[in-house]
Amino acid sequence: MDLKLKNKVVLISAASKGIGRATAEEFIKEGSKVAILSSNEANLMKACEEIKNIQGVEPFWVVCDVANRIEIENAYNLVKQTLGDIDILVNNCGGPAPGSFEQLNENQWGQAYEQVLMSATRFSRLVLPAMKAKHWGRIINITSISVKQPVENLMLSNAFRSALTAFAKTLSNELGPYSITVNNVGPGYTLTSRLYELAVTKGKQTGESHEHVLAEMANSVPLKRLARPDEVASLIVYLGSEQAGFITGSTITVDGGMIKSTY
Ligand code: NAD
Repeated sequence: MDLKLKNKVVLISAASKGIGRATAEEFIKEGSKVAILSSNEANLMKACEEIKNIQGVEPFWVVCDVANRIEIENAYNLVKQTLGDIDILVNNCGGPAPGSFEQLNENQWGQAYEQVLMSATRFSRLVLPAMKAKHWGRIINITSISVKQPVENLMLSNAFRSALTAFAKTLSNELGPYSITVNNVGPGYTLTSRLYELAVTKGKQTGESHEHVLAEMANSVPLKRLARPDEVASLIVYLGSEQAGFITGSTITVDGGMIKSTY
């Protein structure tokens, strides 16, 4: 299937590792012009070098802490000057701090608000004028299965990704007349450094090895395994395509069947 993504300009807001990085690679395979952002310069440079070695094309990269409004504006301006107006925005961020309500303090709530919710609203606001002028655009937020089934001990992720989902649904209604679609992709257990860190944290609490925790996670999934980052990225790329033009306001999970509900 020709997804008609050649030369589309794609900005992925946290993409030096994991699902964001895999998404960058999949868009590059489609011939898109890709910019990746991350707060970690060393990881960004490593990702770009590795992607260039595999795909023969290096993404444009900018160091940006997505919890910081000024850094978002500066990064957006640099990408626009270098690659042109953004056609496809993929809002990603590092996962917020794990913990129960009583373990998390006021500062961590504030940080998660900036990182998960406000980053997506800020990037969206910046890309919209050009998308509206072109009468074409895609905004895809990477959220979590937690918006359909809250995950134990991830209070901040559960709370702010649900807010982001409501934002996206409302925005999709407002932008429909401009042929701009807004969707969310909710990963289930996906083998990345985020999942590894969560397994280490849980293992410390329960006295189990992180290998055991990861094996238990895999066993709780109907498909009996963890996802690969590229399996989540494939859906993101499809939602960015011309063919996905009638899908908007949706939250689609990639979870190996883990969500227990029927929708
Ligand atoms: P990851 O830890 O592998 O990668 C996260 C990326 O975000 C890295 O490139 C990191 O540098 C970047 N980042 C972190 N904080 C940042 C900041 N403040 N500013 C800019 N960049 C920042 O994570 P992942 O597993 O690929 O997860 C991506 C998103 O999906 C996260 O929000 C995560 O919580 C969510 N998620 C992951 C899983 C999973 O099982 N991996 C499941 C559900 C949801």
